[in-house]
Amino acid sequence: MVSHLFFYQLVLLGLLWLCCMLHYAWPSGHAADIPRLPQPLPPPRKPPRVPKPFPGLTHQPPCAACAQAAASRPQAPCAPPPRMAPTRGRPRQVDTSQHFCPHPDCAYQGWLGLGNIRANGHPSGGPWRQLYCTSCGGYFQETHGTPLHGKRVAPEKLVWAVGALAEGLGIRAVARVFEVDPNTVLAWLVEVAEHTAVFSQYFLHDVRVTQVQLDELFALLSAVKAGEVSETEAVERLSRSPHWVWAAIDPVTKLLLTVDVGDRTRAMAQRVVHQVVQVLAPDCVPLFLTDGFKEYTTALLAHFGYWVQLPRRQASGPAPKPRWMPLPQLGYAQVIKTVRRRRLVRVSHRVVFGSLAAIEQVLAVHGWHINTAFIERVNLTIRQHVAAVGRRVMTLCKGEEGLHQQLALYHMYYNFCLPHASIRLPLPQPEPTNGSGSAKQWRSQTPAMAAGLTDHVWTLREVLLFRVPPWPQPAGR
Ligand SMILES: [Zn+2]
Repeated sequence: MVSHLFFYQLVLLGLLWLCCMLHYAWPSGHAADIPRLPQPLPPPRKPPRVPKPFPGLTHQPPCAACAQAAASRPQAPCAPPPRMAPTRGRPRQVDTSQHFCPHPDCAYQGWLGLGNIRANGHPSGGPWRQLYCTSCGGYFQETHGTPLHGKRVAPEKLVWAVGALAEGLGIRAVARVFEVDPNTVLAWLVEVAEHTAVFSQYFLHDVRVTQVQLDELFALLSAVKAGEVSETEAVERLSRSPHWVWAAIDPVTKLLLTVDVGDRTRAMAQRVVHQVVQVLAPDCVPLFLTDGFKEYTTALLAHFGYWVQLPRRQASGPAPKPRWMPLPQLGYAQVIKTVRRRRLVRVSHRVVFGSLAAIEQVLAVHGWHINTAFIERVNLTIRQHVAAVGRRVMTLCKGEEGLHQQLALYHMYYNFCLPHASIRLPLPQPEPTNGSGSAKQWRSQTPAMAAGLTDHVWTLREVLLFRVPPWPQPAGR
């Protein structure tokens, strides 16, 4: 009997020990249940793999956009004519410094602030002023060259409708809200998009940034429903269709440098990088961060490279051919995400150009690590603001064209009209509000303000009424 009891106790103890051992030895299963944040994750520190130095290319990678047009930015045909002295008489009440003469035969055509424009009041009680050029004697309306010119619709209605489009309402929805025909809304969108594209181009140039994040997001415009396919499936289905939205931002100022739509190819990567280069100052070579899409490497190399004459290895024989190499100051790292069963399992980094130390130094100024979180956040807002990208099948979007226009509108709206919470500035002194609310602590800023391109938050009405000069104006006017 005693031996039985002893035996049971022994078995019990054994089981207990087994349980304890299992508990410690088992791979921590509960950790896998917690969804991991798709955020900059401190990567497991592996011994650094020494990458082979880039051997260089024997030819410069071609870029269609570079070959096509060196004259993509409009240039003034000649020096501006002299400033006109103010005429005698009553001093002018209306500021006309933001207007220019549109008449092609006039010497003052396209120049701002030369004192040749006079305001004439509102002819026959209309909503817009008439302006007069004292140089050529020509008349024009203050809406000349803007989407509001020659419209019979009330200006406010058009501005609100465009605002609704920019905030992500689809064309059909806008047509219903404002009780107009969908084709009218589409016509407005086309015209406004043209204007906002020129507007953005006028302001976005010679931008100085330290880093650029690039990304592509897939836009499911037809057949396939958003959220029901994985990205890999979408890549397969859409890799030949022009439904990828490409975007580049400066994560510091949040400025959206470019946004475009096209397929997921090398040519498109070239085009996007080319557009970024057009916006940057000529000597600005920022740090680039992208996902693992391999065509960026070629595109960056095409635009940020130079010829290097390698030293001879042997005393005799022909000299080695010159090699096309990345600029020494170019930093480029890829963030590679491994997704399994739609769950992010691993994020790793690959330094492609430049050294890891140099890249980390650029990021350390802001306390960041290598990541593409900011551009991914922007992609989310693009989905919210551009109906054709974010919604399912039903959105009226006439293929790629409509999408181009919605993106051009969003590009301007995001940079110039939408204050961004993360770049607001503290006020030196809190300002009391009119109502009973608490005092205002912050001055809101748009990305364009943070980048020093403009000094105020633009309203949509202001943008739509802005007459974009045909060429850049001399600074300091
Ligand atoms: Zn004139």
